[in-house]
Amino acid sequence: MTTMHNVKRIVIVGGGSAGWLTAGVLAADHRVRDGAGISVTLLESPDVAPIGVGEGTWPTMRDTLRRIGVGETQFFRECDASFKQGSKFERWVDGRAGDYYFHPFVLPQGYLETNLVAGWLKRHSTTPFADLVSYQPHLCVQGKAPKQAGTPEFAAVANYAYHLDAGKFGAFLRDFCVRELGVRHVSDHMTGIESEENGDIARVLTRSSGPLEGDLFVDCTGMNSWLLGGHCGVPFISQQHVLFNDTALALQVPYEDPRAPIASHTISTAQSAGWIWDIGLPNRRGIGHVFSSAHSSVDAAERELAAYVERTSGRPPETSPRRLSFKPGYRREFWHRNCVAIGLSAGFIEPLEASALALVELSAMMLSDEMPATRDAMEIVSRRFNDFFTYRWERVIDFLKLHYVLSQRDDSDFWRDNRRAESLPERLRELLALWRYQPPSRYDLHRVEEVFPSASYQYVLYGMGFKPEPEGFTRRIDDADCADEFFREASQLTRRMLGGLPSNRELIEHIVKNGLPHA
Ligand SMILES: Cc1cc2nc3c(=O)[nH]c(=O)nc-3n(C[C@H](O)[C@H](O)[C@H](O)COP(=O)(O)OP(=O)(O)OC[C@H]3O[C@@H](n4cnc5c(N)ncnc54)[C@H](O)[C@@H]3O)c2cc1C
Repeated sequence: MTTMHNVKRIVIVGGGSAGWLTAGVLAADHRVRDGAGISVTLLESPDVAPIGVGEGTWPTMRDTLRRIGVGETQFFRECDASFKQGSKFERWVDGRAGDYYFHPFVLPQGYLETNLVAGWLKRHSTTPFADLVSYQPHLCVQGKAPKQAGTPEFAAVANYAYHLDAGKFGAFLRDFCVRELGVRHVSDHMTGIESEENGDIARVLTRSSGPLEGDLFVDCTGMNSWLLGGHCGVPFISQQHVLFNDTALALQVPYEDPRAPIASHTISTAQSAGWIWDIGLPNRRGIGHVFSSAHSSVDAAERELAAYVERTSGRPPETSPRRLSFKPGYRREFWHRNCVAIGLSAGFIEPLEASALALVELSAMMLSDEMPATRDAMEIVSRRFNDFFTYRWERVIDFLKLHYVLSQRDDSDFWRDNRRAESLPERLRELLALWRYQPPSRYDLHRVEEVFPSASYQYVLYGMGFKPEPEGFTRRIDDADCADEFFREASQLTRRMLGGLPSNRELIEHIVKNGLPHA
């Protein structure tokens, strides 16, 4: 007779956004506070600060926060959060002033009903695709919030995510997880890792809190990946031949006028060897330049960043930027034996489209939903987890590369190298060939929880000026008429929403002062 090894003690190492989001999801889902099922211990070093960047999120964050059980009002108050309705890409197409497009969160109007691209190409191709099919770019341009003061917590008029202060977010989640959800917090430095004879991790050693034994270890130690990469030796697969950026310079810039509008979208402005993010929080902007160190010196990147800050805020930066280096890529597997990596320990590509926290949320969710009851079941679950997340990382890479490969910019080797055929993933190359004759669709991205839906590919593809062959789009002749109906709908919704929604700053200030109604 074999003895069953139940999985009960979960040890998370690392207390950045990844560690605390994972702890929150596990503890809430499994009622850790009641003490009946699993226990969750989080070990966090007081000597190693979390990375402290990562201010852009996806709409999934609303579900995650709700799932953990925090209130949206409380979140706004404590994390200096603001609304995010998508991204605006400036100067990515040809680099000229006035070159921009939007990737909003709302699906195109009528997206699931007809081929809107056929209608756009036939009758409206001089209007930017996103502006025609969605009301949301217009809300962003006018600085509107995605809901009203009377809309309940987490509910939306227009789909939205958040911008947030990453440092405050970690502390907010930690307090909530410890106070409300029964997560045990150990503030100590991990000094070693010991294995069982079979190779599983048995315990992690700490400087002064003794060993922490566990059945399952979650590596949230950031880019060092101490457990999965360091101890288990799972190799890192570099993606630098596809996506070149590996360095970031980050700044916090105060508003000159504290009543200045808060952008309700991330502004991504292409530069000679990378791009600059600009994220509006209620009290400051988070601005950073991410670039390829093979194509630009740090000094040159810093000059471009300073010029951007001066152009958009009227004065040069008052502080020096913080420099961060990273290797774009991910681990060959994410779950090895009884160790699973979530967050930067699993991989990181670059901040474009802010997919890192979304992958953390998806990982925490799958881990929680599929929490293996026994060590034997863990073998099956881990195989599935690895399959899911290898697929997801590959799709993130395809989608990010799409932004670069379609650019017509010719002002530097960075942009020319990005178009080199050998830098293009095979699957993306094939899809681009197909999309000359048909738009991206669910047949290209057919998994239930795709990281980026086909609508996102459409927004970027046509925003970047991709020119399809019109013959491929006119085979079903009623598509264009049908699409016109939806374009009218989008335009009516635009008018209604512009009239009825408060400004982003107005609503955020209202929430901080008065709160949002509960659902
Ligand atoms: C320039 C840049 C911009 C980014 N922008 C975005 C964005 O807009 N949106 C987005 O979704 N993501 C973004 N990211 C990614 C995002 O910052 C991370 O995914 C997120 O913060 C999660 O980090 P983490 O928790 O995995 O790691 P970290 O924040 O690095 O946390 C690591 C934790 O491990 C602990 N630790 C390390 N060693 C030990 C030890 N020996 N003992 C005990 N504990 C230890 C540390 O104390 C810390 O608590 C960005 C990343 C970069 C580099």
